[in-house]
Amino acid sequence: MKILLHVCCGPCSTASVERLREKGYDVVLFFPNSNIYPEGEWEKRLENARKIAELHGLELVVGEYDHSAWREFVRGLENEKEGGARCLRCFEFNLAKTAKKARELGIENFTTTLTVSRFKNSSQIAEVGRVVGARIGVNFLEHDFKKQGGFEKSVELAKKFDLYRQNYCGCEFSLRN
Ligand code: SF4
Repeated sequence: MKILLHVCCGPCSTASVERLREKGYDVVLFFPNSNIYPEGEWEKRLENARKIAELHGLELVVGEYDHSAWREFVRGLENEKEGGARCLRCFEFNLAKTAKKARELGIENFTTTLTVSRFKNSSQIAEVGRVVGARIGVNFLEHDFKKQGGFEKSVELAKKFDLYRQNYCGCEFSLRN
């Protein structure tokens, strides 16, 4: 079964890609992530996503970087704490981009590496994914990649492949924190 995987960064994609491939999915990677600031950081994370694509021989589709559009989408939520309403909007932004890209590519399913993070609530991500998928007409497949040691595995593989590991979530508000 083909699936478009939203990749938030290289380290998070390591264990997620392995898990999906073990389950027999035909994985295509998608890197949008206009939430990431500054653009140089987006490029660094993209570079890591390219490494993972090359390691597994997978196609990587790169989205347009438009941080202004993301800022507009989260307007009014700038001072929210990490894990709050701004993050839900942020998930919606990237998951809607992924669902639209999946539809454009004729891929019926999508999911996200975001659930590998122990700092993110996988149920909230899945809820946003289901709503967005229903709206756009693509199936969101719920995979909680942090389960069964997925987070620890992503740390181990990131070291093994010598990937850059960022120390903030992505946007300027998380950088400030
Ligand atoms: S903290 Fe992370 S998830 Fe929350 S809005 Fe910023 S980039 Fe998005």
